[in-house]
Amino acid sequence: MTTIAGNLQQVRARIAQACAAAGRDPADVALLAVTKAVAPDAVREAAACGQRAFGENYIQEGVEKIALLAADGAAPLQWHCIGPIQSNKTRLVAQHFDWAHTVDRLKVAERLSEQRPVHLPPLAVCIQVNIDGGAAKSGVAPQDAPALARAVALLPGLRLRGLMTIPEPAPDFDAQLAVHQRARILFDDLRVELGLPHFDTLSMGMSADLEAAIHAGSTMVRVGTAVFGRRGGVDTGG
Ligand SMILES: *Cc1c(COP(=O)(O)O)cnc(C)c1O
Repeated sequence: MTTIAGNLQQVRARIAQACAAAGRDPADVALLAVTKAVAPDAVREAAACGQRAFGENYIQEGVEKIALLAADGAAPLQWHCIGPIQSNKTRLVAQHFDWAHTVDRLKVAERLSEQRPVHLPPLAVCIQVNIDGGAAKSGVAPQDAPALARAVALLPGLRLRGLMTIPEPAPDFDAQLAVHQRARILFDDLRVELGLPHFDTLSMGMSADLEAAIHAGSTMVRVGTAVFGRRGGVDTGG
């Protein structure tokens, strides 16, 4: 078994174990394999193990990988933009990705909607929330999330799927859980308020905190290091 195959198996086992501990169905937690700085061959390897959903931070790098992997003619993959989206990059995201997790301004959402090609289904989007208030961080403030969500929900080229968070690293499970639970409460409140059946995604949890995120109600964990190794390490030739 390759390292990536083994890593994927381990991550899936961690997800299953966290779900069991939280009394949740593992089918309700999707695994997004994060491929920033990961070579196309490593993505191919993960895809050969049945992994279908991939997350990219760097839009240009992502667009190149999407084209390369599509040219393989293997099973279609689902690509999620999880990095910051500058206004001048919205067209690339709208044309090439299936999801964008990092919508935190109406202007960017409007551009994504306008630029989404009509032959594609609406772009699935999450509102990125700055859940722990880091001053330099992207993401809308929690108190501003409802107004942004209401506006985004009206855009025809988008389908509002939920919320996304990237909390600061926290020292232990309890500290991680406390922050993730704040996101869960905001998500539940919004779900009630918006009443949209497809508002069903809480994108949170990474290699170091996926257990706490799942305990708090995450429906999509974004995992890079635990699948592909440390960036700049064995899988990227550094
Ligand atoms: C890098 C990254 C991840 C994955 O982080 P790991 O700690 O490598 O699992 C998830 N989400 C975002 C937004 C990232 O930038």
